[in-house]
Amino acid sequence: MNLSDLENKRIAVWGMGKEGAATIRFLWAHFPNKHLTLIDHKMPKDIPDDGPMDFIPEDDLDKQAINFDVVIKSPGISLYHPHVKYLKDHHVTVTSATNIWFARARRGKIIAITGSNGKSTTCALLDHILKGLGQTVQLGGNIGKPLLSLSQNADYYIAELSSYQTADIYFAPGQAPDIAVLLNLFPEHIQWHKTHAQYYADKGNLIQAGCGSVVLNHTDALTLEKTPGMSGVNWFNDPEGIHINGELIQFDEKILGNITDITLLGRHNHENICAALTVCQILGFDLAECFKLAATYPGLPHRLENLGLIKGRTYINDSISTTPEATIAALKCFEGRNITLLIGGQNRQQDFTKLALYIKHHPEINIITSYETGPKICMALEAHDVTSYVTEATGLKSGVKCAQKITPKNGIILLSPAAPSYDGFNNYEHRGESFRLFSQNTRS
Ligand code: ADP
Repeated sequence: MNLSDLENKRIAVWGMGKEGAATIRFLWAHFPNKHLTLIDHKMPKDIPDDGPMDFIPEDDLDKQAINFDVVIKSPGISLYHPHVKYLKDHHVTVTSATNIWFARARRGKIIAITGSNGKSTTCALLDHILKGLGQTVQLGGNIGKPLLSLSQNADYYIAELSSYQTADIYFAPGQAPDIAVLLNLFPEHIQWHKTHAQYYADKGNLIQAGCGSVVLNHTDALTLEKTPGMSGVNWFNDPEGIHINGELIQFDEKILGNITDITLLGRHNHENICAALTVCQILGFDLAECFKLAATYPGLPHRLENLGLIKGRTYINDSISTTPEATIAALKCFEGRNITLLIGGQNRQQDFTKLALYIKHHPEINIITSYETGPKICMALEAHDVTSYVTEATGLKSGVKCAQKITPKNGIILLSPAAPSYDGFNNYEHRGESFRLFSQNTRS
């Protein structure tokens, strides 16, 4: 939706998160004093106040007269919310800040990245590479700044897009991204999308016709299943594209660099590097130089973040791990080392069978459980006759203290909870920062 299409419309903004606030500021910057309507659960405390605005409680949306033509919906509100249908039935256009941003004229190229996992890492990594090459880059969307608050004057725009943002994404002719990347597909976000099939379709919306180039993952089973016969794709993880070959990253037969030179840990991150390098290849940059820049990228906080060597032990913060699969991936990065795993968090009916089996084959891993899933994990370990040292702690602080006692020098203390944080912390960042703090308080 172009700005000019909005000028004479009566507009409501639905949802007052970071993106909703940026949308309101954007609208008032372009249409000073435009009367807006805000829709939310309840009147938010902090709202932009430099223009006139009405408020409608979300629950009353279908009870009040509709005094607007366009609703700009925040990504957190499901496209399948009954009120969205109600609005459409009443001839209201429901759109998003993402769609408004894509319709804007700008100088540089847009690289839009989605996927079930690895979006933030790949976007931040690409930002690091392109900036290292001397380009001006704006990074935003689901990471960092809302798209509508980015400046319009960069060489490259990297837009991280969640499935909530791609579900109703629309590109008018000439407005699609120059490069669209779909990293992988795993079943997720069922509450929002209602069915897994809908989730895959909503994510797949990004790679529609009109995108300059499409980058896909050749080893991702669901991507292959959902894109049969798609032509013109730039595949990564493909022997003819950029892929991992043993200890090497290669483009077809050409060696770009060695995995042992890469700071980021874990095969999944090396695959994210392959995706980012595929974008660089499409853009025509020297791949050996791009690899060197990728190799130095330190990673984002709370994702296998190395907090350093403290009194002989290395602390790794993987607080973002909310599933047993993510924790297995973390453990695999340190195979053969003495690891103490701090695990446990909010119960979401996780299945710990695979994790228990992995630990059974690696009895050198010490386990310290706590929080809601702690007892469930202990039961799963017992059920699989795991012989590792397993103990329960009352929380992260006492867990770290215990880990410091039982982990030998040169060992690793890994926080990878395999569960959300909300039963003990505000969010995963809070949990990771607490771990950082506790790791500094060591005596021996
Ligand atoms: P997102 O932004 O999609 O949530 P992040 O880059 O923040 O992804 O990474 C979150 C977690 O997802 C990581 O800690 C890791 O466990 C997992 N992950 C990252 N990249 C991949 C990948 N390519 N494949 C599978 N899992 C991944």
